[in-house]
Amino acid sequence: MELGALICIPKSPRCDNCPWQSGCLAFIFGQTDNLPKKRTKTASKPIWVLVGMIELEGRALVRLRPEKGLLAGMWEFPSVESDQPSSKEALIRHFQDMGISVGVEGEPRELRHIFSHRDWHMTIYRCISQEKPPRELPRGNCWLAREQWESVNWAGPHRTLAKWLSQS
Ligand code: SF4
Repeated sequence: MELGALICIPKSPRCDNCPWQSGCLAFIFGQTDNLPKKRTKTASKPIWVLVGMIELEGRALVRLRPEKGLLAGMWEFPSVESDQPSSKEALIRHFQDMGISVGVEGEPRELRHIFSHRDWHMTIYRCISQEKPPRELPRGNCWLAREQWESVNWAGPHRTLAKWLSQS
């Protein structure tokens, strides 16, 4: 017999016919009308993410995410997170911090990706390097050849961005 379906029915349990009654704490403490409690779903925190995709001679500038935390150790395009909407200037500054001077091309694309605790609102720009990029990139960054874009372990929505870039 399916006790959950036929006897212990949420909101209207048939305790009088229940073989578990003697051991049921909800029944003993008179809480059968209050249980089970519905879990309230916590809303994902909105995060604005600016992403810059640079392709140079068939290679895209990518980096490894940190070893710990969300999407740990996976590949992504350079990006900046913010807890409030931010401008493309913030992205340009981010590249400057990496020693790369960029301009942005065309209109950005939008992508939304919801995790259990975070809700990424992504704005993605095609960027062009305004001068020859430095040979030495910051640790964890590299130029990834097109042939490898299919096979690397992309961080969640960044796989979609790699597809967009390969189709453009
Ligand atoms: S006695 Fe307990 S297990 Fe049985 S129907 Fe009532 S609440 Fe459910």
